[in-house]
Amino acid sequence: MESPIRKEETCDIAIVGGGASGLAAAVTAASSNCDVLVFEKCSALGGSTALAIGSVTAAGTKLQCRAGIHDSPEDLLKDTDNAIGDLISRDNRELKKVLVQEAGDTVDWLANLGASFVGPFSEQPIHRSPRMHNIVPNSRSYISVLRQAATRKGVEIRLGSQVLDLITSEGGVTGVRVNSLSGSRTIKINKAVILATGDYSSNKELRAQFMAKEWAQIEGFNPSCTGDGHLIGMAMGAAIRNMDLCNGPNLRFVSPSQPIWVESLPTFPAFARLMGVVARHAPKYFFRLIAKRFLTVHTAPSTDIFRKGAILINKNGKRFTNELQNASLGIAVAEQPENVAYILFDSALARKFSVPPNYISTAPGIAYAYFHDYRTLRKDIVFIGQTIGQLAEKASISPTALTETVDKYNHFVLVGKDDDFGRENLGQGLHEAPFCILGPVKVYIPVVDGGLDVDCKCRVLNYEGEIIPGLYAAGSVGQGGLILPGHGLHIAWALVSGRIAGRNAKTE
Ligand SMILES: Cc1cc2nc3c(=O)[nH]c(=O)nc-3n(C[C@H](O)[C@H](O)[C@H](O)COP(=O)(O)OP(=O)(O)OC[C@H]3O[C@@H](n4cnc5c(N)ncnc54)[C@H](O)[C@@H]3O)c2cc1C
Repeated sequence: MESPIRKEETCDIAIVGGGASGLAAAVTAASSNCDVLVFEKCSALGGSTALAIGSVTAAGTKLQCRAGIHDSPEDLLKDTDNAIGDLISRDNRELKKVLVQEAGDTVDWLANLGASFVGPFSEQPIHRSPRMHNIVPNSRSYISVLRQAATRKGVEIRLGSQVLDLITSEGGVTGVRVNSLSGSRTIKINKAVILATGDYSSNKELRAQFMAKEWAQIEGFNPSCTGDGHLIGMAMGAAIRNMDLCNGPNLRFVSPSQPIWVESLPTFPAFARLMGVVARHAPKYFFRLIAKRFLTVHTAPSTDIFRKGAILINKNGKRFTNELQNASLGIAVAEQPENVAYILFDSALARKFSVPPNYISTAPGIAYAYFHDYRTLRKDIVFIGQTIGQLAEKASISPTALTETVDKYNHFVLVGKDDDFGRENLGQGLHEAPFCILGPVKVYIPVVDGGLDVDCKCRVLNYEGEIIPGLYAAGSVGQGGLILPGHGLHIAWALVSGRIAGRNAKTE
């Protein structure tokens, strides 16, 4: 529940943003002689953290130890270095060392606060050891565990409160200006401000400024990722790094109209612990069943289905691109009517993608979802027809246009040449009834990697490498040039950096 607005508008530390990084900072900073205020612009805490799959990658955790896995921060560093390849020259090496060093202890810290994890799981080919820990029952548990810990330590949380900018004097940060339903007000800050505002994946202007222009039209996955902290930091003279890098764009099936039951499970610690015990001791197939629920809703479809012969069509029943050109696929989808597309294939492919090794989507090392899983779990996005015309009607696409498209494509397969888009690997053609559509798919940018430059204490730096007094950044906004490959390192950084920022801000 939102706390009432206090009369005395002053606090020691203001934290801007109530996702994993902001709340980890709040729990770490708050004490009897350091009062902490968290401002969250949305009506609920959570940010991208609450929307995530929930994997956190770390080495040297108690869970690894219990599973007999010998791992070390040094090995984690080597594996992530290999995974980023040439991008290593753009990576923030000092921060990376801090991340790998502190991730394990941070997972244990969260477990001590009441979080329950399953795993560790393997993530091949990136990691040599199983390191991916998954919070249960879902990613909202990060928020609920941290929120409870913050409340116990007297942190005040103000929802619906957007920080607009910072007040400075003699070069340092001395206050924040906040907008809420009750109007705009200034809060004086005694020690520091920690920016924990997430990324800027939904800020089209910033994306247009730093990334390819065509990407500006693609939606961010989380609409609240508007890069507020990036803008606030830049206005203070903060240096920014790697603003052109992002994860995606990804094709994703549109979400079901109702949240899936796993997402609706309560996240209070006692229940989470029970879920942890159930997940650890239940037969593996039971855990996979739950994971498949997530996969069919939250993960990107593998583009392998195109390499094996599927085509992509728009709402008008037309092909519009070379389906094998991964780099431009997202932009092509974003340009279609209603920004959506549909994956079309025949029964031969449906059979192929119903058994290993051909999956529709995966959380590597945890589970795979096949076509039959989508038929069972995502009836809202699976259409099947005995003829192309019948299929088109079921998916509300023009039957004439779709029949023409499939006939034309089959002709291209026959002559071995795609006259429309120059696709080279055309597959076997779409001949065997019944025919299937999976969709709509939309294209999203789930995560962008650019952030304010920070030092190893998460203090924000300017272009001269000097600290901006009183200003910290954690999580995505304080990514500082870190390159985070694979699954689980973004949440690891959010938690690790939140703790570091909180620890140091309170000593200001
Ligand atoms: C679909 C999806 C799945 C993902 N899965 C994983 C995964 O499994 N593992 C992993 O490591 N990473 C994953 N990620 C990435 C990961 O979730 C994020 O990188 C991480 O949670 C970011 O944490 P954060 O605290 O920096 O930001 P957030 O969790 O986004 O929190 C930022 C908060 O700040 C608030 N805010 C913003 N501006 C203001 C303002 N001006 N005033 C007040 N409040 C403000 C926002 O509303 C938000 O609540 C996933 C991302 C997506 C989109």
